[in-house]
Amino acid sequence: MSFLHPLKVYNWYYPVIITTLVVLGVLSTFFTYTKITATTEDSFLQNARTITAAVGTDKLLNLTGTTADLTNPDYLSLKAQLEQTREANTDIRFIYFLGSSDGMPFFFVDSEPSSSSDYSPPGQTYPEASQLVHSILSGKTPAGIEMSSDRWGTWVSALVPVINPNTNKAFALMGMDIQATSYSRSIFLYTSLPAIGVSLILVLVVIGSVIRKREEQFSRLKSDLVSMASHEIRTPLTGVFWSAEGLSKDMSNLSEEQKSSIVLIKNHTKDLLNTINEFLDSAAVERTGKNEIAKEKIILRPFLDEIIKDSSLVVQEKTLKITFDDSIKPDTYIVGDRNRLKKMLSNLITNAIKYSKDGLTITLGNTHHRSSSIFWVKDYGIGIPENEQPQIFKGFFRASNAKRFTDNGTGIGLHYAMQVAELHGGRIWCESKENIGSTFFAELPNS
Ligand code: ADP
Repeated sequence: MSFLHPLKVYNWYYPVIITTLVVLGVLSTFFTYTKITATTEDSFLQNARTITAAVGTDKLLNLTGTTADLTNPDYLSLKAQLEQTREANTDIRFIYFLGSSDGMPFFFVDSEPSSSSDYSPPGQTYPEASQLVHSILSGKTPAGIEMSSDRWGTWVSALVPVINPNTNKAFALMGMDIQATSYSRSIFLYTSLPAIGVSLILVLVVIGSVIRKREEQFSRLKSDLVSMASHEIRTPLTGVFWSAEGLSKDMSNLSEEQKSSIVLIKNHTKDLLNTINEFLDSAAVERTGKNEIAKEKIILRPFLDEIIKDSSLVVQEKTLKITFDDSIKPDTYIVGDRNRLKKMLSNLITNAIKYSKDGLTITLGNTHHRSSSIFWVKDYGIGIPENEQPQIFKGFFRASNAKRFTDNGTGIGLHYAMQVAELHGGRIWCESKENIGSTFFAELPNS
């Protein structure tokens, strides 16, 4: 992420993710619906067949389909069986056997107790019977499931023929009814699970995209302010710096107090100018194409000496020891834009100096591979808390322990270093443990 050109954050993937999720949601809901409907219908029908087989046809063949059956032991036994089966399957409302006389369906027996207002005595006709009922009773359709309404309500019914073993023809039908609303509710419940899952993910993605947009707006505002302020401040500040520089050239007539004030002004304005230049160059780096950068071969050792010299006062004050690893040979080189690489390496080295406690050692090294070189800086300083490490290259971020350790810092140096490494086609990363130390790595292509 850039803090000077946040618009370069590409958000094209949000619409793609959202569209993919919507398509996935619709497809998975449709797939689940067809699967669940088929499975439920299958098991419902299977249940009806099992009950029909368990009841058997013998007793049914002995019935007349008239009120005379009321005293028939086969009728009473069948009725008891149906009542028990219904009680054991609470989702089933009615189980019944129908016959047909002159094309009019009638009840042989049902699962309702005779005291119930929904009870159908033997011989009661069923004129509301659907096309499917007629078709099964006449042997034209093997079995089926349908939703239909009659005087008792609206039902989903499993309908299975009862075959006379002597004629091998359907002479009755076994029906099993489930209330249509509870049937649809259970199908809806299972079908909606993938839709609910996908919707939840969708909500999270949308929230993420809104937060991201807000962050971008805020970041853009911050960038504009920083750019404007930097431009406005740089010119007068450069004037102050050069005036102080001019004054510091001849300080023979000044008192010690005046001399140290001039040096202080010069050093502080120089630091401030460096920071401002880094802000502005960060924007320039964003605009620079990879093929526009210089590809200078830079011998590393003298380059690093130059960088370290700029910090020699602090190094002395903190009694730090800067050592070179054997991997830096006299001819070890890196390739790229001299000025920007100098700032990049300088940021990594001055951080190691800044965040080291007095008297410690800092080591610089460079691992040369065939196509790239990895420059590294190892310190035994304050380290970076693990949970804050992902943030340190983002710009304007300072870890909590760094803020406690020193006020001196803007949180822009590492972001700039990362931009420079990426501009060269390389990358930057760190390994760090709080209170133990950090190693920063910058990989650059060799050509
Ligand atoms: P700053 O001006 O705060 O040093 P940088 O962008 O250079 O900003 O670094 C960002 C943050 O990364 C620092 O504030 C600090 O928390 C952490 N950091 C960078 N280098 C080191 C280091 N060598 N040791 C410990 N923390 C570091």
